[in-house]
Amino acid sequence: MRFLSRPHLIAGVVFLALALYPLINPWQPYPQAVLLMMFLLAIQASSWNIISGYAGYVSLGHSMFLGLGSYTAAIIALHTGLNPLWVAPIGGVTAVVVAVLAGSVVLRTRGHAFVIITIALLLSAQILAINLSGLTNGSDGITLELPFWNADFQNIPFYYAFLFLLALTVLFSGWIARTKFGTGLIAIREDEGKAAAIGVNTTIFKILAYACSSFFIGVAGGVYAYYQTFLNPVGAFAILGSVLIVLSALVGGRGTLYGPVLGAFIISLVNEGATVYGGNTQTRVLILGLILVAVVLFLPAGLLPTFQGWWRKRHPVSTEYTDQAGALAHTITVRERVPSPSGAGPLLEVRGVTKRFGGLTAVDGADLTVERGSITALIGPNGSGKTTLFNLITGNMQADAGTIAFAGKPIEKLPPWSRGHLGLGRTFQVTRLFKDMTVLQNVVAPLPDGKLRTMFADAVSGAEASRARDLLDVVGLGAFAAQKAGALSYGQQKLVELAQVLMLEPQLILLDEPAGGVNPSLVGRITSVIRELNRAGVTFLVVEHNIPLVLELCDPIYVFARGTCIASGPPSRIRSDQVVLDAYLGDDWRPGATAVERSLDAHA
Ligand code: ADP
Ligand code: MG
Repeated sequence: MRFLSRPHLIAGVVFLALALYPLINPWQPYPQAVLLMMFLLAIQASSWNIISGYAGYVSLGHSMFLGLGSYTAAIIALHTGLNPLWVAPIGGVTAVVVAVLAGSVVLRTRGHAFVIITIALLLSAQILAINLSGLTNGSDGITLELPFWNADFQNIPFYYAFLFLLALTVLFSGWIARTKFGTGLIAIREDEGKAAAIGVNTTIFKILAYACSSFFIGVAGGVYAYYQTFLNPVGAFAILGSVLIVLSALVGGRGTLYGPVLGAFIISLVNEGATVYGGNTQTRVLILGLILVAVVLFLPAGLLPTFQGWWRKRHPVSTEYTDQAGALAHTITVRERVPSPSGAGPLLEVRGVTKRFGGLTAVDGADLTVERGSITALIGPNGSGKTTLFNLITGNMQADAGTIAFAGKPIEKLPPWSRGHLGLGRTFQVTRLFKDMTVLQNVVAPLPDGKLRTMFADAVSGAEASRARDLLDVVGLGAFAAQKAGALSYGQQKLVELAQVLMLEPQLILLDEPAGGVNPSLVGRITSVIRELNRAGVTFLVVEHNIPLVLELCDPIYVFARGTCIASGPPSRIRSDQVVLDAYLGDDWRPGATAVERSLDAHA
């Protein structure tokens, strides 16, 4: 805890020192100019960090927003006679509008398209600025009036403007990191499919993050235009500006709060040094390129995270097992979000669902019903399509045919997060925790609904965090809250994933092989947690190969083979069903099946 507050303390002291500096030394414009350029780069790197550090969507054209802000303020100033400083915030608005429009197009999909498009956007902005000469004066650029204040302390107002904007940017970024919105962005970075499954509306989150990452740069652009008193398309939309931003964040540590600021200060100084001593642009590019190579090779995480890692090793957190499973079942809440007219009817109804992968039909007209309050099992040989069926039910994949109804409401067309918001949770066959997040952050990440209030709720403290801690206690892992999720054993990760799903206050949880690969000593804990939750009103659909466990825990049992259901019924019937034994021992025979057969016999 002490370490948590230390960076803020250092940041506060540095801020104060920087705020006092011009008062102590007002008559030296050069160091002020160097410092204010550091602030400007830090504003950009810190903003960039929101979309590219937190959410992991790398923007290589981020200096576009600086150019947009500059042009907006300059054009307005030119046409209205207002001082560019007063209209600089409108530059921020332009940046946000462009980010939302461009983001709505590019960020609907996942992956690398975004990176390419951001460069394309930057270059397009430059071409527009050249060609819309009626507005921008084309390649000749716009010359603004000189600052109205005394030239003797010329730089000081700019110095404070940028320092103030930098403080706002860092506060804003820090606030985002503390909300569930921020946790959702990190979830997107680490595993976008999983993020969607726990209720994160990935499209909205990414667009919003892109917009958040543009505003302060746009405002700073307006101020910068006035500082330079001249702007032209090539200077305002320079690719080198974007490279400096990315480099700053990489050097300092992307994804951290202060890393990009630290990196920007360093890179800005290096850039200035290279300009003064190296002379031309080529030397600068060469030096910056060498730094990039060095960072990638020797400090892949950046300065700040490397230092933090070292610190954590020297000051380890102690952990003890808490065994409160069962005692805290009252913390479980089940929110009924789809009011069903009679309160009756099955909770989940799968009818004729089909999924093909090329020539392979993984799920073939499957039917399945999960009654409210049941622990329904889905068993079947490997490759019979169970996981695929789960993916279709939760929306990680789209079915080719068939209908899926949740509490009577058709859901097969809904995106995964909407299904999560309806009360449908799942865990994965191979656990998909966000390994770089702490256990607590993992549990806080899910969003039980799509409301803004939920999105911007505090994730680190307050109601959400205390609920997450309660849920960790339910699965017995309360003491591990501050650990990185990746450091836990596999079985512990399964339990954390269960706690994570519970954050959605789900009505139905799909468990994909909850005991698979888990140390036998933890299997008992997992089953008792499932039973406890079921008593509290949670319905389960469980895929599991541990047949004794299934026969003991579940009723009814569905048996899957080659993508379709071949038998269903209570454990007593499944145990003696010849079709079931054939499915395990027939064409799908494999060494593991003998164990299954043995356990089926044992329970007969
Ligand atoms: P189970 O969970 O019952 O072991 P799966 O649903 O994982 O089975 O797989 C069913 C079949 O679909 C397998 O033959 C598997 O190779 C195939 N399959 C699963 N996912 C994909 C995918 N994304 N692309 C292509 N084939 C897939
Ligand atoms: Mg599977």
